[in-house]
Amino acid sequence: MKRGLVGSLGLALCFAARAFAQTAGPIAIVDVNVVDVSKGEIRGHQTVLIAEGRITRIEYSDAIRVPAQAVRIEGEGRYLIPGLWDMHVHFRSSQARPDVPLVEENAALLDLFLPNGVVGVREMGGDLADSVFRWREQIRSGGHFGPRILTAGRKIDQIPPAWPGSLGVETPEAAREAVRQVKQSGADFVKVYFANVTPEVLGAVVAEAHKERLKVVGHRAYNLPIQTVVELGQDGIEHAYYMLAFQRDGYEALNREIAARRQTPLAVSLAERWGRMLYMEDPKEEERVYRVMAQKQVWVTPTLTATLRVWQELGERDFESDDRKRYVYPAVWESWDPKLGRRKPPSGEVRKILTEVNKRAQRAMLAAFKAGVPMLAGTDCGVDNSYVIPGWSLHEELENLVKAGVTPLDALRMATINAARWRGAESTEGTVEVGKVADLVLLRSNPLEAISHTREVESVVAGGKYYSRYDLDAMLSEVERGAAAARSQQ
Ligand SMILES: [Zn+2]
Repeated sequence: MKRGLVGSLGLALCFAARAFAQTAGPIAIVDVNVVDVSKGEIRGHQTVLIAEGRITRIEYSDAIRVPAQAVRIEGEGRYLIPGLWDMHVHFRSSQARPDVPLVEENAALLDLFLPNGVVGVREMGGDLADSVFRWREQIRSGGHFGPRILTAGRKIDQIPPAWPGSLGVETPEAAREAVRQVKQSGADFVKVYFANVTPEVLGAVVAEAHKERLKVVGHRAYNLPIQTVVELGQDGIEHAYYMLAFQRDGYEALNREIAARRQTPLAVSLAERWGRMLYMEDPKEEERVYRVMAQKQVWVTPTLTATLRVWQELGERDFESDDRKRYVYPAVWESWDPKLGRRKPPSGEVRKILTEVNKRAQRAMLAAFKAGVPMLAGTDCGVDNSYVIPGWSLHEELENLVKAGVTPLDALRMATINAARWRGAESTEGTVEVGKVADLVLLRSNPLEAISHTREVESVVAGGKYYSRYDLDAMLSEVERGAAAARSQQ
């Protein structure tokens, strides 16, 4: 693949000032249904005025005069929701080819969010941290359109780390140093990815991060029961399957057995570990743990879509005929292809176990939600997570959350007001209210009636600018052109 030429050309395309027909002046959305995600109500016939990126007035349409200089957007029969956030995305290169940094390819993925109504993303770390910091600033300053970015920068992991770009640590001292390095780089929070970790090391990460006023979110290390991770003060757990709660004794006995059998021909595989963990569930303890998590406000991002895709659908569904392939650069698509990429379709017993883990994870999500554990919508989209396509995947996640038992309103909250709460911005963002930042999505149908209606994006207001469907489609066409050019260079 001749990467050099495509690389420089593509970057020039991506970051040139683009001529989408967006408006930076005052905006009036006239006679619209405003969806109040806090109260769960819809107020009809409202006119929403926006100036300098803020909502300045909301009144009944007949009680308000639209300023002459404002861009007038007809809202009749439409539904106005707060802009959506995908709270678990990745910008990164492929594990299969860590030597090939996929900068341009990830820049193109970034451009898929806004056309789908996703105005913000929480980036969970990878090897492209410097590029991600640059994109974050370019979008923040208005130099480039796109979702606002919060990023973990480089992940903190054990030695050797699972992903390129992660910082590997083995001692509490190294853990504290890694947190300081992450903070200094400009990260917004800390992501931990330990598969195995001592309580001392995880405790050191948490203590140092809290000293630096950073939250710590990430996986639950396999060797630690969820109880320990919560007690150590980790602020968030990613992936619902890491939230299953087990009998502590049984779990610790299994750990001892795994340690004893390590490096013998009878080493415990991940599938065996999962299979046995499924028989250690403890509903009473689960209830207690979720109550504690609710009280401590430990955030959970279930990421149901990614696990369904890579554990169940991969190998069953034909993705080659997916119409959205045209928006994905070949190196990214190849990372998703089971023949070339990292993820292989699980087979036989393993598939059965993972299907059961998925089922239990969905149940655990619902139980935790009902116990009051705060939750976020996140999809784990990006390179290597097969066919979880940025932008669209958030709508799938909302649908999967509803299928698992929450209401459309609850799912919508996880992608709006909860995301604002997580980033400490609920007083200025996350709802359609006067004084708040005007990050808004205009939908063609009522999302509280069917969550799939969030897919029907008519227009977007973000960063003080208005993007019509025409503008949003133009953005997609530009990504499509870039991907086609990259394909022809292969
Ligand atoms: Zn992830």
